[in-house]
Amino acid sequence: MKSYEVVIIGGGPAGLTAGIYSSRAGAHTLIIEKGAVGGKANLAYDIENYMGIDGISGVDLMMSAFAQAEKSGVEFLYDEVISVNFDEKIVHTANDEVEYKSLVIAGGTKERESGVPSERDYLGRGVSYCAVCDGNFFKNKVVAVAGGGNTAFKDAIYLSNKSKTVYIVHRREGFRAERSLVERAKQTENIRFILNAVVNDIKGDGRVQKIIIKNNDGEERELETDGLFVALGADPDTKFLGDKISLSNGGYILTDEKMQTNVKGVYAAGDVRAKGLRQIVTASADGAIAGEEAANFALNG
Ligand code: NAP
Repeated sequence: MKSYEVVIIGGGPAGLTAGIYSSRAGAHTLIIEKGAVGGKANLAYDIENYMGIDGISGVDLMMSAFAQAEKSGVEFLYDEVISVNFDEKIVHTANDEVEYKSLVIAGGTKERESGVPSERDYLGRGVSYCAVCDGNFFKNKVVAVAGGGNTAFKDAIYLSNKSKTVYIVHRREGFRAERSLVERAKQTENIRFILNAVVNDIKGDGRVQKIIIKNNDGEERELETDGLFVALGADPDTKFLGDKISLSNGGYILTDEKMQTNVKGVYAAGDVRAKGLRQIVTASADGAIAGEEAANFALNG
């Protein structure tokens, strides 16, 4: 079995930064990533609020961090973590197992589904969770974006440059999204708002043709649309951890300010951690602390 001083689960902004700090602190470091290095940050077409960089694509920022991590000596394993044995300090992946002295959990979150029964049937047939990936299929078409957070607004603004009309469907009048995004969307001519309402059903002949919108009074109406982008937030990806790690009510990992969980030598960083602001810069900051602490624990006990 391969053995590392520090093993990091997740290669997004938190995991990559943890890797850079851990490796530079002298620890033999592995990042395990099940998808593409960079994680959800890869889907951001324009990051405008990362300190010192006034506009960069998620892919460019993440590929630069990846190169930096490799240069620092971080190794990568592309595999899915299935479980962790915290007593024996072993991470079990789908195809391998790896021993660690310290562990950093930076696996991020998983997209929330809308709960509409036919959502899965229309996935790739008009339903999407990623505007940057699928936006080009909706050039000059009508699309709806469900949600009122940063993702929904970023998606809507991105799609407004391609699609004919973009409807933001949100269940109340207030938005979680930051004010600048809300203002920009409001000033965009082809973005329309359907508020106090949710998407209740999807109809179409093999592809999305209309969605059924139900307002808070229970009234339903049809909206003709070619696409539905689901942007209802995300839930922490922590099921594989079993019951050893203390979680918040929402399932996020509880840590102290050193990113230490309730299990000694196990740290958490990024969106998977219980905290107030989930951004690339805060994920990266968590990762710096977790990487430094994890290396220190592994090397000095
Ligand atoms: P989010 O902030 O949790 O927003 C989710 C939205 O979906 C909320 O408006 C919520 O409504 C709505 N919603 C949730 N469940 C619903 C349901 N079952 N039916 C109808 N509506 C539902 O999620 P997010 O926008 O994906 O953002 C996730 C994190 O990433 C946030 O921390 C965000 O700041 C960050 N992010 C940042 C940027 C950036 O550029 N700064 C970009 C993308 C994401 P309510 O508001 O009524 O609860």
